[in-house]
Amino acid sequence: MKQIDVVKSVVDTLKRVLPKDKELISLHEPTFQGNEWNYVKECIDTGWVSSVGKYVNQFEQMLVEYTGVKHAIAVVNGTAALHICLKLVGVQPNDEVLIPALTFIATANAVSYCGAIPHFVDSSNDTLGIDPFKLDYYLDEICERRKDGSYNKITGRRIKAMVPMHTFGHPVDLDALFDVCIRYQIEMVEDTAESLGSYYKGKHTGNWGKASALSFNGNKVVTTGGGGAILTNDEQLGKFAKHLTTTAKKPHRWTFEHDHVGYNYRMPNINAALGCAQIEKLPTYVQQKRALADIYKEAFRDMKGIQVIAEPVNAKSNYWLNAILLDEDRASLRDDILERTNEQGIMTRPVWRLLHNFPMFADSPKMDVSVAESLEARIINIPSSPFLGASYG
Ligand SMILES: *Cc1c(COP(=O)(O)O)cnc(C)c1O
Repeated sequence: MKQIDVVKSVVDTLKRVLPKDKELISLHEPTFQGNEWNYVKECIDTGWVSSVGKYVNQFEQMLVEYTGVKHAIAVVNGTAALHICLKLVGVQPNDEVLIPALTFIATANAVSYCGAIPHFVDSSNDTLGIDPFKLDYYLDEICERRKDGSYNKITGRRIKAMVPMHTFGHPVDLDALFDVCIRYQIEMVEDTAESLGSYYKGKHTGNWGKASALSFNGNKVVTTGGGGAILTNDEQLGKFAKHLTTTAKKPHRWTFEHDHVGYNYRMPNINAALGCAQIEKLPTYVQQKRALADIYKEAFRDMKGIQVIAEPVNAKSNYWLNAILLDEDRASLRDDILERTNEQGIMTRPVWRLLHNFPMFADSPKMDVSVAESLEARIINIPSSPFLGASYG
């Protein structure tokens, strides 16, 4: 097929699958068809809109029940959740933290907020997330083992933590990464911002990291307007997370006693109210998103040189964002496809720019990231709102 015909057939395939009566089909838009209005209205009617109120506790409880992680602490956004997770596992200024080069900028920003340095690692073609085997070889080469952990021989800095991210909701190979963490004495924090509703070997993501971070931004699987949560199975860490995110104030009826530099990261009740209504609908959304993914897979099945990215083996993905992946020899078509689809009112986007290419992170250490570079050149995200799968679900 000629290159121009490939571009046309991608546009035609998307048009065939997507609704015909809409002028613009966005990449991901929220759906509010449950109790959102009732719960939010109650906050306003009763005056409990801010950082204290029953919905915050209820929302946290719902997250615990849904994910099976024992403790959840609701906060203002996913980046704040990541920041606190890193502090909880003991990341200190001048430590290095292993993160994928292929992730949203927030992962690296949270590392920087701790005064630590992101150390970029490569992705696997199977999961789009950190490649445990390539990383193992790399660490073996660059690490010096000391009593208190692994040190980067080149920079002299301690490698304190690793933050795997479940790209577009597809779980990484958590067991293999966990094994690497144990052997090199590295703490794991999971960036589960995209993977609420995604399971690895039958267990919800967020259960492997000592602490994990969720996001409820407007474009995520469920939204609280803006919001996030810290998940942990460790009771002490859970208590400390709540303490740190509520200005580290010691409970007392009237005096102001603070024992740490705390953060005002607590999620307001009005946002949690929205969240409770959204979580009630989460199973439906995940089902609709998985149905949409099946439709896309079927629609692109016979197209040469292009595949729909599918969940890895051992995993059940929420398919937060669907994506097509161009073969290497079709990579030059990416921008044409982006141009034509957006022109037709079908919102598509390239994946994030690899993080070491931003000036803030240009001097950060990194391993060979050739797989991430290749993926960056070939991924196109396509419309993925839950309602698009509703008629197929
Ligand atoms: C959305 C997202 C975040 C941050 O969430 P915010 O709530 O927007 O701060 C972090 N990491 C990844 C991978 C994300 O997609």
